[in-house]
Amino acid sequence: MGWTDERVEQLKQLWAEGLSASQIARQLGGVTRNAVIGKVHRLGLAGRATPARAERPRLQVARRVARPRPAPVIQVPIVEKDPIVDEFGRKTTVLTISDRMCKWPIGDPSTAEFHFCGHPPKPGSPYCEAHCVKAFQPTQSRRDRERDREFRRYLANS
Ligand SMILES: [Zn+2]
Repeated sequence: MGWTDERVEQLKQLWAEGLSASQIARQLGGVTRNAVIGKVHRLGLAGRATPARAERPRLQVARRVARPRPAPVIQVPIVEKDPIVDEFGRKTTVLTISDRMCKWPIGDPSTAEFHFCGHPPKPGSPYCEAHCVKAFQPTQSRRDRERDREFRRYLANS
């Protein structure tokens, strides 16, 4: 079943009410939890924990105070390994991910190809060495980075 305008509105409303992706999938019917997560991400709704309105004044203050120019960022080359596969050749999914695996999401969450990196994470981090570096590299705009981080946190906790 596709995303009609009506269903998208319903999704937005249920999301705003704080329902989890699987609850929303059940309410809407005909979609998977992953499809809901993917749609939420594409609509830019993922970061409901931190409303954009509350964030704006803080950013303005930070910009005024931060006079000195930041040191040039040294881009570390990232060597991403191929994602882990199990003995059946399957990649790590939401069903098989554990705390001993890198939770870096790969691919579109609304498709069956979506999977996680799965390599052993760095101690105290949800990601492996390469994805730790990637997570903190300023290649995206601040807003995109925050949205992605929210999204990954949501995936890791749901
Ligand atoms: Zn990784």
